[in-house]
Amino acid sequence: MGEAQKNLDRELEFHGISRREFIKYCAATAAVLGLSELELTTKIAHALEAAAKKPPVIWLEGQDCAGCTISFTGALNPPAASIILDKLSIRYHETIMAAAGHLSESVYHDTVKQGGYVLIVEGSIPSTDDRFCMMGGRPFREIVEEAAKKAAAIIAVGACATYGGIPAAGPTKGIGLDKALPGKAVINLSTCPVHTDHLVGTILYFLSTGKVPPLDEIGRPKAYFEQSIHDNCRRRSYFDEDTFLKDWNDPTQRDWCLYEKGCKGPDTYSDCAIRRWNDGINFCIDCGAGCQACASPDFYAGMTPLYTAESERSQNIMARKKAGLIPKKEKV
Ligand code: SF4
Repeated sequence: MGEAQKNLDRELEFHGISRREFIKYCAATAAVLGLSELELTTKIAHALEAAAKKPPVIWLEGQDCAGCTISFTGALNPPAASIILDKLSIRYHETIMAAAGHLSESVYHDTVKQGGYVLIVEGSIPSTDDRFCMMGGRPFREIVEEAAKKAAAIIAVGACATYGGIPAAGPTKGIGLDKALPGKAVINLSTCPVHTDHLVGTILYFLSTGKVPPLDEIGRPKAYFEQSIHDNCRRRSYFDEDTFLKDWNDPTQRDWCLYEKGCKGPDTYSDCAIRRWNDGINFCIDCGAGCQACASPDFYAGMTPLYTAESERSQNIMARKKAGLIPKKEKV
């Protein structure tokens, strides 16, 4: 048994999981992304065992709330996910790094000079005036453009970094990497915040293949963003029968469709309803809150007002339903 493999086994033991469980987690992640088990065993396990090959990561934060950072640092469950994230060498991350000032800046510049890192961007970039978001006296826009030049992969995490998110609706007219880095290959993980599984799976895919996973037309991994929330929602039969929840305080309406409370699930593509959140515990709709389409490019401005069916988007959903364009789901 090689030293690298022994190290991994020690780490697994420390986290209280067996090698079999770890490989099973990787296999499940790989299967979702379309990797074969052979690719998994020959590439992923080796990539993770080769401690010397820790891929460097630069994580930049612009106009954000650090919610994606919280999602990322909270990846303690399943333990296999945290082990994969431990394999990354996070060289620069303003929220979690111990270094500050000139020391952190020199680490950033050295890593950029070296190239070949994974660039993760959280938060949007102001489009009206650079001064809305400055880092170390420099415009955030300039830093993102600089860091993107020698990156081996670029991942935009969260609604803001992908398509602008909430800051797009404010005076900064924040834009995502889709507009800030035209022509660059960017992987968009667009929920608010980023889903840990989406990030871990995407990193795993990159580590094992050196490539980006198959993406949809707006740069999101198809494996995670191909199906609509509505298609997998357990309230779907109530939508099909026009039974909409009107009063959250009435227990008899508890399971009814949340369309009239502003749910945009029919126009939102993400696997939240299957994958769920916080280690599979729950997700918005099962908590009684309608989907606000945080995975969609026109979130947030295009979805308001959020908790009624008055928005243009909600009206459009109902018009399509009445025209038979959202057919009833077949009962199984
Ligand atoms: Fe579920 Fe929302 Fe669709 Fe209703 S509108 S079935 S709550 S996704």
